[in-house]
Amino acid sequence: MPPGFSVGPRFEYPEKRTWPGRISDRWWMSDAERVGAMSSVAEALKELHRLHVKIGGLKDQLARGPRQIAVGEKRVATLQEELERARESLKRARILADEKQLQLKTREDRIVDLQGKLNTAASNREYQTLKEQIEADRQANAVLTDEILELLERIDRMAEDVEQAEQRVKEAEKQLGQTRDRVAEISAELKEQLEETMRELAGVEVRLPDELRREYERVVRARGSEGLAGVDSDSCGACHQTLTSQMLNELALGKPVFCPGCGAILFRCE
Ligand SMILES: [Zn+2]
Repeated sequence: MPPGFSVGPRFEYPEKRTWPGRISDRWWMSDAERVGAMSSVAEALKELHRLHVKIGGLKDQLARGPRQIAVGEKRVATLQEELERARESLKRARILADEKQLQLKTREDRIVDLQGKLNTAASNREYQTLKEQIEADRQANAVLTDEILELLERIDRMAEDVEQAEQRVKEAEKQLGQTRDRVAEISAELKEQLEETMRELAGVEVRLPDELRREYERVVRARGSEGLAGVDSDSCGACHQTLTSQMLNELALGKPVFCPGCGAILFRCE
């Protein structure tokens, strides 16, 4: 007879499946059935551990996708900045070349103007001064022409740099697109697997007696798969704390045992 119940004419026992509490309190079971139920709890814990490890792995894999995309996005952004810098340098060099060419043209015009004045020079001295000015302008323009040629060569190289930078951006954008597609595809697969595993997990969790389930939910919420630990011969598989012989005996009977080191719910590995 369960404690707290009296026999009445219309009394009905609660559904066995929803009966709360410890297996040892399950009055309707024989000793053999209780041991059986306990070992099925041990089996359930082992299975739950396996499923939590799997879920952890799937979540890690899922988290990897967005990280890969972020790396690709950063690369595209960096290359775009490089492209912008290359374009800006080219633009500045072109402006400089235009300025120098204008300077050259202005000086050439002045030479023509000075040459015109040679014919109307009032004195030999004025004539000589004009000649010197023309010569100075010609020399200055020779230097400027060299500078302009050098600058135009540099502009050609810069234009090639811009083209290469554009190619690099295009390539990185293409790779990013491929990464996005691949991540979307893999994520969909992983999410499906995760949902299936969660359903499987829920199916095993109901096999835990209520009291143990509350403890289980607490440790799993706090520590995920590490909230459950298999026992390797005589120590906790998670933190390697050696267990007392009493704990090992209780485990052998299929009773729930908590690791005194890390607090994990223990189960036998064999
Ligand atoms: Zn432990």
